[in-house]
Parts: sequence; C-alpha cells; structure tokens
Amino acid sequence: MTQVEHLTVDDARWDTLFERTRGAVALCYQCGVCTALCPWGQVREGKPLSVRSLLRRAQLGVPDDHEDIWLCTACAQCESLCPRGVPVAEVFQSLRGMAWEERRVPKGLPSVLWSIYWNNNPWSQPPSHRSRWAKGLEVPRFDPSEHEVLYYVGCTAAYDRRAQKVARALVKLFQAAGVRFGTLGDEEPCCGDAAKSLGYTPYFEEIVQNAAQVFAQNGVRRLVATSPHCFDTFRNYAPRYQADFEAEHYTQFLDRCLSEGRLRFSREVPLRVTFHDPCFLGRRNDEYEAPRRILDAIPGLERVEMARSRQDALCCGGGGGRMWMETSAGERFANLRVQDALATGVQVLVTACPFCIACFEESVKAVGAPNLRVMDVAELAAMAIE
Ligand code: SF4
Ligand code: SF4
Repeated sequence: MTQVEHLTVDDARWDTLFERTRGAVALCYQCGVCTALCPWGQVREGKPLSVRSLLRRAQLGVPDDHEDIWLCTACAQCESLCPRGVPVAEVFQSLRGMAWEERRVPKGLPSVLWSIYWNNNPWSQPPSHRSRWAKGLEVPRFDPSEHEVLYYVGCTAAYDRRAQKVARALVKLFQAAGVRFGTLGDEEPCCGDAAKSLGYTPYFEEIVQNAAQVFAQNGVRRLVATSPHCFDTFRNYAPRYQADFEAEHYTQFLDRCLSEGRLRFSREVPLRVTFHDPCFLGRRNDEYEAPRRILDAIPGLERVEMARSRQDALCCGGGGGRMWMETSAGERFANLRVQDALATGVQVLVTACPFCIACFEESVKAVGAPNLRVMDVAELAAMAIE
C-alpha cells in the first residue's frame, strides 16, 4: 500500500519565506527542469535532490525537516535554465536560515560560524597567522597613496597549505607585471561566503558591512581576489551596503595586465591542459574567457575543452557551504569531473578556485588517476615568467 504523507501547512512560514526571497519562491511553476539538471542526480542513483518538490513544499508553507536542504552547492546549474528565473540556491539559503532559527542544523555547522566570530575565518585558524603564507615574499601593507590594488588573499589561500601556493604564484605574477599592490595582512576581514552559503543571513550581512567598512577605512577602491567566492561576495553583495570599491577575480585582472602589455609570458610550458569553470566565476559571474585567454597566452601550452564546459560545466561540489559538510565517497561530483578531464587525455586539470583544487585533488586519489595533476591558472602562468 502506498504510504500517505500528511502535510501541515503553515501560513506564517510561507509569508516569511516569501518575504526573504522577495517573492522569488512563488515564481516556480513546477516544471522539474531543476531536478533534471541538478548534479546530485548523477551521483545518487534513484535518490536525486528533488529540487522541484522541495520548492513545492516551500510554496505550500510545509515545515521542512528534509536534510536535503543542506545538499545544494549553489552551483546555479538549475538556475541557468529555469524558465521562471527562480534563484534556487537563494531559496535553499532561506530554508537553511529558517532551519537555524528552529535549531535543525547538521552537526558541525555551528562551529564554522563560531570560528568566523572568534577567528575571522571559518577554518578555526588563528587570526594572527593569516599573513604567514607570505613569509619570505615582499608583500607590503596596503597603502592607498602607493598601491593601485588591494590583493584580497582570502582565508583558504591564507591558511590552506595547498592554496597558499596559488597566493605565492600570484605575488610572483603581480611583481612581474609591475603591479603596485598590498594586502591587509592579519587584518584582512572575512568575506562572509561561508555564513551566506550556510543560510545565516543576518550574520553574513554584518560581515559584509564590516568588510566594506574596513576597506573604506583603508582607502581601498579596487581589490583583486584569489577565490571566486570572495569575488562573488564583494562584487554582488557588498554594493548593497554602499561599498565604494570594485572587485575583480584575479583571472580578470591578469587578463587585463596581458592585454595592456604589462605581463608577458616568455617561458615554454609544454603541457596539455583542460580548464574547469568554477561555478562562482562562470555561471554566477559570467566570466568564462579571462582564464582561457591567460592559458592560451602561455607558450607551448595546449588547451582542450571537456565535453561539458562553460555554462554546462559540472560543479566540483565545494560550494554552498559543502566544504564544511561530509560528502560520502561515492557521491562526490568531483569524481565525475576528474573522469571528464581524463577523457580528454590531458596532463593537467586546471581551475581558478581553491575549493575546486581541494575537491579535485581528493578525487584524483579516489578515482586512481595519479598522472593527472590539478593546478591553478596562476600556478601555470607563474611557470611561464622568467
Ligand atoms: S526549473 Fe524553475 S520553474 Fe521549473 S521546477 Fe525548477 S525552480 Fe520551478
Ligand atoms: S544550485 Fe546546483 S546543487 Fe543547488 S539545486 Fe541547483 S543544480 Fe542542484
């Protein structure tokens, strides 16, 4: 006999969700395109993330205790083809926000927010170690009278040993291009991406406002970020708080340095590579060409495309706060992405996001592909300068 699920409709809940999504949740007309496109369907046989039905329950104001609301990686794959333009990830973030208020959150997540509160980063790392990645390099404190840009390192590139190599490669590139830059050292503020992704919106707003204030106090008019996640926050959310600075991802900045003739690649890098579009650079911010132009300017480097790329690129699985949640070994999107790269026969899977690098390096081991290297665009570019 089919089991009947009894649903309790809660009007107040619907009103809250409607208000928090500025009415967007009401737009969904249940076509199901989102469920079909969501990458969870590719890794969970017979148990995809039923985005459509979660949205229906939300529209009905049905209290949701589904753990599924924590699965969304905010990859925007579904949003790119939703005929009603529903900002699905934002709806998920609002549902997560309500789960926080009702104290229904997965174990481990409160400590991520506490870490931002105490340490100014979600990785439980000491704030006084934030600038240690730059040891031995000449990285000055940002001074608006001397520097054209603030290099916003971001917490992952500052603390994660693997991602630190990307920050160091960027310093080498900035110096080669004669860029006058500085950082805020240990005083660099948090971008708030983790709080936003996990749906803790009021705190996220506080973090972004604080960052905008710190930048204003330091005379920052232009910043260049290592991570597409920080870039997304500063580009798309900070302006809501009267922030008076422009944000760029480092691939956009380096691309401009190349076109202006400030940066030149002179050394051959004879590698065959494929580029993976990070969701927060590509689909979320429509930047597909800058990283490709940088790679194509490197002498000796051959670039090929994976079968699904640009708007159709598969997510690595690290966005939407998933970096702070467990994903079982058989359900990692990155395993499939590594397979996509292997199918092209390349030596290097290149990306431009510290989260993608972490996910892919795990998956290279899981899939058993020891000959496939995972590198950042900045690392390859740094190999091409004297
Ligand atoms: S694709 Fe858009 S309109 Fe269709 S079910 Fe999903 S959210 Fe609703
Ligand atoms: S944003 Fe990505 S992970 Fe989230 S529901 Fe849409 S397709 Fe699935």
